[in-house]
Amino acid sequence: MSGKILIVDGLATNRIVLKVKLASAYYDVLQAPNAATAMEIAAHEAPDLVLCAPTLPDMTGHDFVQRLKARQTRDMLPVILFLHDASPDARLRALQAGADDILVKPVDESELLARLRSLLRQNQMARDLHVHAGDASALGFSEAAATFRASPRIGLISLKAGLSTRHVANLGRRYRGKVTRLDPESALLSSRRGDPSDLYLIHVSKSTRSEAVDLIAKLRAAPHSRHRPIIALLSPDAIGLTAGLLDMGAEDVVPETTDPAEISLRIVRHLDGAHRTKMLREQLHRGLRAAVIDPLTGLHNRRYALPFLERLGAAAQRDGRSFAVMVADLDHFKAVNDRHGHAAGDAVLSQVARLLQSNLGEDDMIARIGGEEFLIVLPDASRDAARRTARRLCAVIRNSAIGVPSTKDPMHVTISIGVTLAKPCPNAPLPDVQQLLEEADRALYGSKSCGRNMVTVRKQSAA
Ligand code: GH3
Ligand code: MG
Ligand code: MG
Repeated sequence: MSGKILIVDGLATNRIVLKVKLASAYYDVLQAPNAATAMEIAAHEAPDLVLCAPTLPDMTGHDFVQRLKARQTRDMLPVILFLHDASPDARLRALQAGADDILVKPVDESELLARLRSLLRQNQMARDLHVHAGDASALGFSEAAATFRASPRIGLISLKAGLSTRHVANLGRRYRGKVTRLDPESALLSSRRGDPSDLYLIHVSKSTRSEAVDLIAKLRAAPHSRHRPIIALLSPDAIGLTAGLLDMGAEDVVPETTDPAEISLRIVRHLDGAHRTKMLREQLHRGLRAAVIDPLTGLHNRRYALPFLERLGAAAQRDGRSFAVMVADLDHFKAVNDRHGHAAGDAVLSQVARLLQSNLGEDDMIARIGGEEFLIVLPDASRDAARRTARRLCAVIRNSAIGVPSTKDPMHVTISIGVTLAKPCPNAPLPDVQQLLEEADRALYGSKSCGRNMVTVRKQSAA
């Protein structure tokens, strides 16, 4: 994994040693001898991560982290702060200052590189989502950290029956979220049921290593738990597993002897991060949806409808089914606009759309493919069934009183429909979407020229 790492350290020898390690792991390295220079570099050279010494010539590492984080508005720049002091209080203060992770000197090289990879990976994922979904500020990210969910559910998984530690037991009391003890099977089962925990805390000892790795891999693969953070809680004999578990996809790994206040803080952080990426994913999903939805009627648009027809054609050919394609067009709609105005015309369009949609089946597809023109597709329909449905739709519109805000009396409109049937044969070419649309259009023209407010079914389809 590549990335640009900024080393902030007053001692040149420390910077050089670290630089050699990082360069041999293929990272680009930037260096700053003090906090002021580091601030400049962070602002102008877009590093991907900062490694900071405990003390700097112009301020403490703690204060530097605090200032750096305060300056960041929307860019997320992860910081690992090195500490001399391993006391629970010093660790907690470093995290509270904004450090994304802490490492106590002397630093284990493989753990440093694993934590670095893990933070870069998590951050890169969040950045990619930002690029696709848009600006975080539009999503209300200023929302206070823990306000998004009154009581997040923490799934606490012990891989050995009855295994419990003092700290684990403490956690439920200290952490205001709901902590539920789970065995691996029930964790996977609830994930499969779509009711996963918001975060998994997996207790790992040396003897349960392979089960833990297996569980992490399965939780990562299951659709409902794959974006839920996993924190591995290590028993003293399993400390050497830190790097491996991080690389397996655990978001965080902490010794079980860690102060519960620190564990709680890490839990809140990871829940927070997961909440943000969830919002970004939803924003992305809404964006993708918006591209295939017509804003006036809420129906699918042409961009959705045509590929849908192509997919349906292929599936119908495979299964030997026939399907119906209809085009419905409002009659004399120009007159509605001319008489009552464009806004009234819009209101009629959206109500007609709603009436048509609510009179179709769940598997049927309706899209607005033109100004006052709708495409309706009935999968698995016979010619007679399609004719019946089309006539019913015509009657529903004809018999509905349509209320329009600007006019006192309800309005009455009619539609004309053209229908064609596709009967794909197993060895023939796939049905041609354009040809089907043209056939339905020609049938529609028949309805229009015979007086409108009626259905024409094309006798035989060439497709
Ligand atoms: P026909 O019975 O032959 O279909 O006649 P028509 O008046 O419905 O057809 P024509 O194609 O002459 O006019 C369609 C009208 O639909 C013209 C246009 O102003 C109107 N229209 C198209 N899109 C919209 C829209 O989004 N909102 C409104 N209010 N009107 C629209
Ligand atoms: Mg029309
Ligand atoms: Mg038209």
